[in-house]
Amino acid sequence: MTCDDLIVKKPFNQQSPTATGGAPCFSPLERMLAHVFGLSYTGVMTQTLSTRTVCCKLSLAAAAVTAIRATAEAFNAAATYCASVAWNERITNKNKLHHIVYGPTRVQYGLGAQLACCARDKAAEAVRAARANGHTTCPTFKPDSAIRYDARTYRLMSLDRVSLNTRTGRVMGQLVLGDYQRRHLYDMSWKIGGAELVQRDGAFYLHITQTKRNPTPDEPIGFLGVDLGIVNLVADSDGETYSGATVQRVRARRFRHRQRLQQATTRRARWRLRQLARKESRFQRDVNHCISKRLVHKARTARKALAVEDLTTIRARVTVRRAQRRARHSWAFRHLRSLLTYKAAQAGVLVVAVDPRNTSRTCAVCGHCAQANRVDQSHFRCLQCGHTAAADTNAAVNIAARAARQTAYGAASPPGEGASTSPAASALGS
Ligand SMILES: [Zn+2]
Repeated sequence: MTCDDLIVKKPFNQQSPTATGGAPCFSPLERMLAHVFGLSYTGVMTQTLSTRTVCCKLSLAAAAVTAIRATAEAFNAAATYCASVAWNERITNKNKLHHIVYGPTRVQYGLGAQLACCARDKAAEAVRAARANGHTTCPTFKPDSAIRYDARTYRLMSLDRVSLNTRTGRVMGQLVLGDYQRRHLYDMSWKIGGAELVQRDGAFYLHITQTKRNPTPDEPIGFLGVDLGIVNLVADSDGETYSGATVQRVRARRFRHRQRLQQATTRRARWRLRQLARKESRFQRDVNHCISKRLVHKARTARKALAVEDLTTIRARVTVRRAQRRARHSWAFRHLRSLLTYKAAQAGVLVVAVDPRNTSRTCAVCGHCAQANRVDQSHFRCLQCGHTAAADTNAAVNIAARAARQTAYGAASPPGEGASTSPAASALGS
């Protein structure tokens, strides 16, 4: 595989840190201050909160499975009803929605008080997200969609047992934990919050959310520029590259395998395709975890901030040949970026996003900008001053310089920093 030499492997189930749920841990004083100044909690805090999700397989007795299936059906029907009310009445505030939907949810769908609130929350958040993303239809939930649990509707107990609220009372389940899950769940520096009960291929999984306060970032003494590229997934401004050829090779092989399967129309082939899609997703997650961990560690050791490109333009920016489009467009760069952000936050490393326009065609030494500077996909040669470098590295140096210019820490890291030293491109993982 790719980055055995980089970091320990992570199982697939550590999810993106943007998952919802989990009660924020603020002191009464902070809450009061936030209230007095009319700010959100995070607005007052210099410290931010990290969230992570631990996914655990759940072993249930037959009676518990029946109870949970019935609860999931009622829960999601209730959530669909709440969403339709929120959508039609244009309500995004959970309290306002509560007054309208609470009674009907309990009576019509037979949910207990706490589960009724969880269904309302799930619906309200989905509607808010749909509106924010400009969707024109109201979100709905399938009968086997997830059940949301909060601190009052589920409880973790000793011996890895979990007690879950259902329509017909509480049921017990057994968490099937590996080393990874056990290490994360028993880490007391993380506070356990809500959970989602997910059904997949007839099995049940509990996605448990944990939160932790981030340290205040240190003032950096420079920037480590990070370029997301084609030749290498990532190159930094020190000239180091991360997971290029190996990753592409594995993916090309899997892609050919998928193509073969897509021609077959059997159930078996369809099942295998779904399995392969998950395998690919786990592979990308794993590589992204390794790369982001390594970058954050490097920045932390050098007391630098991370300079990254603003991702909104990543696909539009680079023109790629047809054959390379798949490699370029199907990598989970957004996931990588979100991992970088949250790992950096936990390590007290500042992250600065810059406009990446022209970073790949501008000379990191003299600033000359021309498309012809880019000899090909992987090489850069300045037409004005003759500076040569790996194209990705040159772009990363430009990104670091831009971050320095746009922040107060600029003086510590003048534009073009790092360009005078000839970066030796060590092809890590390739
Ligand atoms: Zn130049």
